[in-house]
Amino acid sequence: MDKEQFQRVRNSLPPGIKLVAVSKTHPPEVILEAYQLGQRIFGENRVQELIAKQPLLPADIQWHMIGHLQTNKVKYIAPFVSMIQSVDSLKLLEVIDREAQKNQRIIDCLLEFRIAGEETKYGLSLQEARQILESREYQSMKNVRICGVMGMATFTKDMDQVRMEFRNLAGVFSALKEEFFTRQDGFREISMGMSGDYLVAIEEGATMVRLGTILFGERK
Ligand SMILES: *Cc1c(COP(=O)(O)O)cnc(C)c1O
Repeated sequence: MDKEQFQRVRNSLPPGIKLVAVSKTHPPEVILEAYQLGQRIFGENRVQELIAKQPLLPADIQWHMIGHLQTNKVKYIAPFVSMIQSVDSLKLLEVIDREAQKNQRIIDCLLEFRIAGEETKYGLSLQEARQILESREYQSMKNVRICGVMGMATFTKDMDQVRMEFRNLAGVFSALKEEFFTRQDGFREISMGMSGDYLVAIEEGATMVRLGTILFGERK
């Protein structure tokens, strides 16, 4: 890892923007180097990898699950995960709530939206999110806290398209805030922007960016 590059990117973020350092595929030693530079939030996209690394690293790391999550794997991360950014169904939210309860904790979650074109499989539409938030099941959950929205733009060099997708996600956030979370300060995160598009994401209102390659170099 190039520590100067890591610090350059970190320090270039506007104040108030949370950095999720996406450490997938990188070994614990690399994560520890970033930790020693002061980084505390790390993102992983696979449960197996996350549960292998977590016990080897400092306990005050905030682990964010950013990849698609199967319901049968929630139990492995529920004891320690700091945020699940990839909630894309009521079913998944129900399992997270149940597993969080077993661990006597409240798990922070983001609703993942499908903002890109055809290429992404996962994520909700605004209508599907409304159905979840209006459901009796959701309204009786006590061990999840929905903190905002997450999305991935189309993988393209066309930054106008990417910008419109991010703008769409920010619009989804505002709509949900107004309809369901007006009095909940905890609903405040817009997680968008990766190495190739995070500057645009910040311009469009991101509160949290998820960066891997630009911090750690190319993945093998
Ligand atoms: C891998 C990944 C990232 C980081 O991608 P980079 O292009 O390496 O910055 C961000 N978000 C999600 C959901 C990812 O899977």
